[in-house]
Amino acid sequence: MTLRNIAIIAHVDHGKTTLVDQMFRQSGAVRDNQRVAERAMDSNALERERGITILAKCTSVVWKDTRINIVDTPGHADFGGEVERILSMVDGVVLLVDAAEGPMPQTKFVTQKALALGLRPIVVVNKVDKPDGRPDGAHEEVFDLFAALDANDEQLDFPTLYASGRDGWAVESLEDERKDLSPLFDLIVRHIPTPAPVRDNTADKPFAMLASLMERDQFLGRILTGRIEQGTVRAGTTVKAMNRDGKLVEQGRISKVFSFQGLERVAVTEAHAGDIVAIAGLETATVSDTLADPTVEDALPSLPIDPPTLAMT
Ligand code: GDP
Repeated sequence: MTLRNIAIIAHVDHGKTTLVDQMFRQSGAVRDNQRVAERAMDSNALERERGITILAKCTSVVWKDTRINIVDTPGHADFGGEVERILSMVDGVVLLVDAAEGPMPQTKFVTQKALALGLRPIVVVNKVDKPDGRPDGAHEEVFDLFAALDANDEQLDFPTLYASGRDGWAVESLEDERKDLSPLFDLIVRHIPTPAPVRDNTADKPFAMLASLMERDQFLGRILTGRIEQGTVRAGTTVKAMNRDGKLVEQGRISKVFSFQGLERVAVTEAHAGDIVAIAGLETATVSDTLADPTVEDALPSLPIDPPTLAMT
């Protein structure tokens, strides 16, 4: 099974939740397609009820023989470097833009960060079914935005799909037959590179990963999520945590390793370089710390945290 790690960038209401929900329904979830599909719908219904996005931070779908980890990004600027940390886990982004509204200023910050990190975007002009949609205009505005944000030639040469997430289809050209989301899945697999740690063949090295997200769970305590940069992580083993200067923060036993399968976080015995996992068991380690096999001496390079003044509209 091959692997892709992507982030979705979208302005609020441009249809991210609806699209991801359709991706769940149309792809195989790892274990039990039906169950996950139902849960996806449940969560969507719940969300409509509450009127807020509760899309989990990390989810995954399986398309043919590829597992696609999908990481959610904040829809706007943030001040703690979370956008950078999230984007550093992925190898490409899908920018979702409403065909009537075009790109919105609030997503400019996140898009700029993705471009600055060298990620090659896929653009999905969404809600093409809307009577007031103007897909070509929205597409042009995205190009202008990328140019204004100093995108490189490769990034400016972005592939575009036109979609209705609500109706569950995407096409390369508006004249194409509107069938399903397979053009989107295929494009993700084709256009987004294999995760860097897999490309660099780091599987045989000792385990190391950078913690990108931190949350607390009532039962499991601290949970650190990140992409495994090298080696294999196993539940029950001892790891050390180092801060960005390489100073030891703590040494502790991993109680659980979670992989993302559909909407669920599933406990696994081990996970490998390139995959995004959540780790429980450490007590003081935090974001930007390196979690590693005790034999690893140096912390992984981590991104600097942005001063708030850099935040844009
Ligand atoms: P999110 O905030 O980006 O997660 O957006 P949602 O997925 O919650 O969608 C926002 C609103 O747009 C909802 O009322 C959806 O029903 C609607 N919507 C989503 N996708 C489409 C689409 O493809 N076409 C149309 N016409 N409406 C859509």
